[in-house]
Amino acid sequence: MPSIYDLSFEQLEAQLAEWGEARYRALQIWQGLYHNLVSAPQALTTIPAALRARLGEAYTFSSLTRLVAARSSDGQTAKYLFALPDTRQIEAVLMGYDKRRTTCISTQAGCAMGCVFCATGQMGFRRHLSAGEIVEQVLVFARELRAAHDHLTNIVVMGMGEPFHNYDATLAAVDTLNDARGFNFGARRITISTVGLVPMIERFAAEKRQVNLAVSLHAATDDLRTELLPINKKYPLAMLFDAVRAYYAVTHRRVTFEWALILGKNDSPEQAAALARLAGDLPCHVNIIPLNPTHEYAGHATTRERAAAFKTELERHGLTCTIRVRRGIDINAGCGQLAIADVTGPAPVTLSV
Ligand code: SAH
Ligand code: SF4
Repeated sequence: MPSIYDLSFEQLEAQLAEWGEARYRALQIWQGLYHNLVSAPQALTTIPAALRARLGEAYTFSSLTRLVAARSSDGQTAKYLFALPDTRQIEAVLMGYDKRRTTCISTQAGCAMGCVFCATGQMGFRRHLSAGEIVEQVLVFARELRAAHDHLTNIVVMGMGEPFHNYDATLAAVDTLNDARGFNFGARRITISTVGLVPMIERFAAEKRQVNLAVSLHAATDDLRTELLPINKKYPLAMLFDAVRAYYAVTHRRVTFEWALILGKNDSPEQAAALARLAGDLPCHVNIIPLNPTHEYAGHATTRERAAAFKTELERHGLTCTIRVRRGIDINAGCGQLAIADVTGPAPVTLSV
């Protein structure tokens, strides 16, 4: 059964027209879903009971079944493992820092890109998520926050999967969340992270959205980047930077580069200098994250000292950067680390809230 959240506003209008319903019902339903955050057709109290029933027969309002809820010991990070209707598993995370409430959502079950240090990459590709399955992850957290008199402030598309490998569904989800008639979530508070699929970066640039772009770089020389991120063979650094520069030229939006520091691999001053050479005068920001260890990759997180030296070297070359703290590490909040059980056995039944 398709998800009600798969529909754009226009598709919802078309569906209602096909059923012979009045046009204004679309706005009522849309506001019920994205303004009042209802999670069942019966709760759409502004429309007639017969239409509620018909919607409930044609669409699911709930594709995500929560299997595990884990909270970090400081209570600031909650990570949910969801089962999809076909039993595939995905994760979504909610992080709180001061007044920020950021959700990190998935776009695929598994991932085809095979980055060696990534738990999701180690699972392999299972399937794309539908737009509705992506939207619903956000709604789950939005409803919980609403119940606690709080609200989401940021969305990062950095969970399981490569968003630009599932471009249409990902951007349809972003458009639904951004739609001013409903959820009305500012595009500038949404960030999409890509491993660097060049044709899709070009497409994203051409579409001129206000959504932020992050690019997972992790290495500034082709040999090392190909070793860590096999997709670099297809879209090497020169091509990637051409696309990112073109993106900046069109959008004037500063790009974020992500860099997971792996001890003795990509944490050298030479890599920092190589990154500075690649970036040149491109307006960008580097997010440094110590590697989150995973089962199938032998690398270790860098040390605090080497991370600081890496940062200093970047800054010496005029780049701005932030070292991110590894929040939620005690609940495996790294990408794909709960759902890895999808491959290796049944879902881990740990804590529940
Ligand atoms: N597929 C997209 C978005 C999901 S991954 C991408 O690769 O950008 C989100 C971020 O987590 C990426 O920067 C990715 O490289 C990083 N990441 C994956 N596994 C990690 C690990 N074990 N430690 C630290 N960062 C990791
Ligand atoms: Fe896929 Fe991103 Fe993980 Fe690479 S880092 S395997 S692109 S999810």
